[in-house]
Amino acid sequence: MLNFDLHCHSTVSDGTLSPTDLAARAKRNGVDVWAMTDHDEVAGIAEARAAAKALDLPYVTGVEISITWASQTVHIVGLQIDETNQTLIDGLAGMRGGRENRAREMAAQLETVGIHGAFEGALKFAGNPDLISRTHFARYLLELGVCKDLSEVFSKYLGEGKAGFVPHRWATLSDAMQWIRGAGGIAVIAHPGRYKFDDTAFDALFAEFKDLGGTAIEVTTGSHTVDQYEEYARVANRFGFLASRGSDFHGPGESRVDIGTLPPLPKSVKPVWHDWTI
Ligand code: AMP
Ligand code: MN
Ligand code: MN
Ligand code: MN
Repeated sequence: MLNFDLHCHSTVSDGTLSPTDLAARAKRNGVDVWAMTDHDEVAGIAEARAAAKALDLPYVTGVEISITWASQTVHIVGLQIDETNQTLIDGLAGMRGGRENRAREMAAQLETVGIHGAFEGALKFAGNPDLISRTHFARYLLELGVCKDLSEVFSKYLGEGKAGFVPHRWATLSDAMQWIRGAGGIAVIAHPGRYKFDDTAFDALFAEFKDLGGTAIEVTTGSHTVDQYEEYARVANRFGFLASRGSDFHGPGESRVDIGTLPPLPKSVKPVWHDWTI
């Protein structure tokens, strides 16, 4: 079975490796088909594609779009998109615009709990200032030594309801679906196990996603526990979704799961790549 890794991040969003270094790591780790899925930005794709080609590594274009659904942030991965599609590019650019203001508000709130200079501190870690994200704040807080790891930073400072959390309105599900499908892509709900919805809300999300032309959900991802691989395999089959697999790798020493190292998809599901010609 081929090793597909269809979700990871470079310095173009909140990863710590360049697209070229990510391609090399994917190849070294035995990935057979690779997609890079930076948050809300397609600017790294040309470099990723060229690096993959030089390594003879089959490459699939990707993006991970932040949306707000039922007051929560949900991520929708688009695969096989035409990254030159102007509606997609403009839509993502419009949505990214709010990140700087949000980051300044996050920093102001962090000041109130004694964390100083967080905007400048986070910016230093952002390869792309346009994409300044909670991950960059988390790296700054780790540098300050106030927490021992990323998950502690999120549970104490940056998660919903914590001092550094600023609610934000991202794209709508319908926008994201139009951008992805308008660019010829396949839409995938990223790491469904991470969202805090009750069963009714989950069912509504999956149904609406399906209605809007959604194709797949991530089943085996670095953001799921082993139990969740089986749980979301059942969800995929119940709703007639294909299943995707991706590490959600952000960087060495930071991500729990390295690129290309996840177990295979459960046998019960149909892979999102079942009809791809590689
Ligand atoms: P943002 O788009 O600025 O809200 O940042 C979201 C990013 O923060 C995600 O893409 C993850 O990379 C990271 N993140 C969110 N929650 C956690 C967590 N509990 N542990 C580690 N990283 C997280
Ligand atoms: Mn991220
Ligand atoms: Mn995500
Ligand atoms: Mn991701």
